[in-house]
Amino acid sequence: MLRQVSSQENTAALVERLRAFLGERCTTSVSEREHHGRGESYHPVRAPDAVCYPLSTEEVAGIVRLCAEHDVPVIAFGAGTSLEGHLAALKGGISIDMRRMDQVLAVHAEDLDATVQAGVTRKQLNAHLRDTGLFFAIDPGADATLGGMAATRASGTAAVRYGTMRENVVSLTVVMADGRIVKTASRARKSSAGYDLTRLFVGSEGTLGIITEVTVRLHGQPEAVRAAICTFPDVASTVRTAIETVQCGVPVGRMEFLDAAAIRAVNRHSGLSLAEAPTLFFEFAGSLAAIAGETETVAEIARGNGAQGWSFADGAEERARLWHARHEFHYAMLALRPGATAWATDACVPVSALAACIEAACREAADAPFPAAAVGHVGDGNFHMSYVIDTGDPAEVARAERLNAALVKRALEAGGTCTGEHGVGYGKARYLVAEHGAEAVDVMRLLKSALDPQNILNPGKVLPAADEG
Ligand SMILES: Cc1cc2nc3c(=O)[nH]c(=O)nc-3n(C[C@H](O)[C@H](O)[C@H](O)COP(=O)(O)OP(=O)(O)OC[C@H]3O[C@@H](n4cnc5c(N)ncnc54)[C@H](O)[C@@H]3O)c2cc1C
Repeated sequence: MLRQVSSQENTAALVERLRAFLGERCTTSVSEREHHGRGESYHPVRAPDAVCYPLSTEEVAGIVRLCAEHDVPVIAFGAGTSLEGHLAALKGGISIDMRRMDQVLAVHAEDLDATVQAGVTRKQLNAHLRDTGLFFAIDPGADATLGGMAATRASGTAAVRYGTMRENVVSLTVVMADGRIVKTASRARKSSAGYDLTRLFVGSEGTLGIITEVTVRLHGQPEAVRAAICTFPDVASTVRTAIETVQCGVPVGRMEFLDAAAIRAVNRHSGLSLAEAPTLFFEFAGSLAAIAGETETVAEIARGNGAQGWSFADGAEERARLWHARHEFHYAMLALRPGATAWATDACVPVSALAACIEAACREAADAPFPAAAVGHVGDGNFHMSYVIDTGDPAEVARAERLNAALVKRALEAGGTCTGEHGVGYGKARYLVAEHGAEAVDVMRLLKSALDPQNILNPGKVLPAADEG
């Protein structure tokens, strides 16, 4: 599956044909190319040779067919918010920017689903749904595209209640490596008909096909929403509260952990004055009566774990400010060190191992020469570390690498995964064999070579290179 880097002449000939096909919607502008060669990650820019802006599934198929004829890589681009080097054009190639495929194609309110073009963002879909009483629940914080979210099997703060993209994608339209167009499933809520192609493409990071349309599940807007904040003496009591909340079957809407360093950063960036201690942010959603009962149950659990402070945000504005501050965590960390880069890593473990994993990750980062903090979607066992490093300083990069490797090793030893939601890109490909075993990774390679025999779809991502496993 090794590929030779495409010759300049071959690529130039391809770009000519793409220009003839798309006109100005194919560009080789340096700034456009550089923008498309990186996400929000610490990985260096690896610019593609050209960027195309298709408007339809047929146009995507046309681009992919031309790339296949020229044996040139194709990298789908959503909103560019991924964190593990997913978008780097490691072998050059054509970036397909999906953002002009931004039509909401159908809302079936009675069936609780919607079909959108892959470039529709989650905020755009929710704005479209505003008057229907329904909403799309998956919230990774960033305003990602539905295609990108399906491709990374995204989740985020609402997963504790609504699941991840795995549970919320009903069906996909996908352009295969040879330009064939495939619909993976019907809109039926369940099906036993054949292999589950939908789930094969969810999480495939643009390496098996280009998603052009996504049908997603919708949920009813809750009657009422209430947010609360609670601080604790240490990480263990904070995480224990989260676990006991889940074990008691309280259907919290969101339940987020921030360590003291994260609260410090968020306070500074968002003008808040929260106590700088391990903290849980909660959101309760449902009927007023249900929320009252759930709040009381969780308050009792928190008290039992030594909770020190408990405050509520009932108004929509106050609640929005709180969640905005949480979602700005990445930028709050960056603001601590202007000009630096945030290395954001995540892992997910069985909840029984979560407190020990977070504590160890924080302990190891405590004397690092750069800012570091922990946050987590703790109801799922998922936590994130942010290391704000100077990527020009090899010692800092090496230290962050060691911290990341130790965090992943511990997660795998605890029966967890090297990434709960950010995905693999090429940043975490080296951990795939340790997590899944060589045989399982071989099966993944077989799937990849069957569906993309030329290895033109986002090459170098997800699967480790032969010398990495
Ligand atoms: C501040 C911040 C917070 C974040 N928090 C979370 C979080 O809580 N949970 C979470 O899950 N993620 C989180 N992320 C990561 C990121 O938002 C998600 O991975 C998101 O799903 C990426 O979507 P995107 O549209 O930006 O895709 P991109 O970054 O553009 O692409 C991501 C990958 O998907 C592929 N891809 C994109 N579109 C398609 C398509 N149509 N067909 C096939 N492949 C495609 C790309 O080739 C690439 O491999 C966060 C990122 C930031 C910057």
